[in-house]
Amino acid sequence: MTIRIKKDKIAQGLLRTVEKMADVDLSTCFQCKKCDSGCPVSNLTGSPPSEILRRLHLGAGNELLESDLVWMCVSCETCFARCPMGIDIPSAIDALRVLAVEQRTPTPEGNMPLFNRVFLKTVKIFGRTYDLGMITAHKIGTNSYMKDADKFPVMLKKRKIALLPPRGADRKMAKRIFDSVRRNKENQK
Ligand code: SF4
Ligand code: SF4
Repeated sequence: MTIRIKKDKIAQGLLRTVEKMADVDLSTCFQCKKCDSGCPVSNLTGSPPSEILRRLHLGAGNELLESDLVWMCVSCETCFARCPMGIDIPSAIDALRVLAVEQRTPTPEGNMPLFNRVFLKTVKIFGRTYDLGMITAHKIGTNSYMKDADKFPVMLKKRKIALLPPRGADRKMAKRIFDSVRRNKENQK
């Protein structure tokens, strides 16, 4: 694929910003592409992980925040495990997500930022993900009530989805983690 780099004033700092936010050193990437071969969504995206790093090195600007991998990455950390230089790519992608939200960058179809928010909300409330709660909130937010509705009975039958919220999760621990993140954010202001 053709890589288009738009250099602008903000772009100069994008690499450094991501490195600082994610606490990673991206300069050691030598483009071996081992991260791409293990990435479960690499084939579905226009920009696999190695390309995201290359574009950062080349001074890509905020257009990088529109890359589909930024929202399609499932944080499986396979790329991190495979990288011979131990580069924490998922953290770098997380940093790009945060920047994309802060700058209200257009996101791919499916409203992934909303999905992220409802995912975190259920973890915060139940201490663990609650699939049905997530799906309901996402459907309300995207006004797509009937999309994939035919799959629901099958998933229910195969016990791939539960009607009731999860039990036994350490809700207090989850609350402590969320409180700690909130405090850290407030201290950074
Ligand atoms: S595996 Fe590591 S060094 Fe190789 S391209 Fe990916 S990030 Fe760069
Ligand atoms: S963490 Fe994201 S970029 Fe890395 S292999 Fe998994 S899906 Fe791909």
